[in-house]
Amino acid sequence: EDFESLGVCKEVMEGINFLGYVKPSVIQAHTLPRILGEPGQGGKSLQAQAQNGSGKTACFSIAVLQALDISVLQPQAMVLCPTRELARQNHDFINLIGYGMKPKTHLVCPGMERVPTGSTIDCHILIGTPGKMMDMCKKRFVYVKELKVLVLDEADVMLDQENFMGTHVMDVRKHLPQDIQILFFSATYPDYVQIFARNLLASKTVIKV
Ligand code: AMP
Repeated sequence: EDFESLGVCKEVMEGINFLGYVKPSVIQAHTLPRILGEPGQGGKSLQAQAQNGSGKTACFSIAVLQALDISVLQPQAMVLCPTRELARQNHDFINLIGYGMKPKTHLVCPGMERVPTGSTIDCHILIGTPGKMMDMCKKRFVYVKELKVLVLDEADVMLDQENFMGTHVMDVRKHLPQDIQILFFSATYPDYVQIFARNLLASKTVIKV
């Protein structure tokens, strides 16, 4: 099987070819048809069990890119990550695989540049940590109405009870459109992650891979 037959569009294929991927990984083959959905219809929300090295980053990056209308310069996808380092890596990866589309991406992490009062962050894709993202949403620095996809990367790390990121994720989610597609990626599913996923994805079609 190849990427095209999983529903990957021409513009995104340019990035996949640029990276030199020939064959989809197992998780990509299993999730992409559901994540991307039928042409013209939105994809489905999904809860995936994905280890590092499985190709999960490409998976959600493809979904994020394919959800974009590049002619609209408003945030259309948001990726939440447990650390600044991971946010930076995901940011850089999305720009690589976005080779054919050249989306405008923005890192939303502690230490980011200040957004001028009264304006919003100019980009197609927001990538960042939950605390700072919540802060930016609350201060109305994020225009949320065009958001179509929310990705949670390394959800088990993000939701670890030792920090408050779980509350921040829920606070962010409250600002986003009700019908947003949610892609939930976690390497492990201890009870607290499973319960959180159930709350977050309530009433959505959940496909566990
Ligand atoms: P990840 O699990 O997202 O950390 O990806 C692990 C590594 O696999 C990264 O270096 C990716 O660039 C690479 N990768 C992801 N998908 C594919 C693919 N379909 N073919 C070859 N390499 C891939």
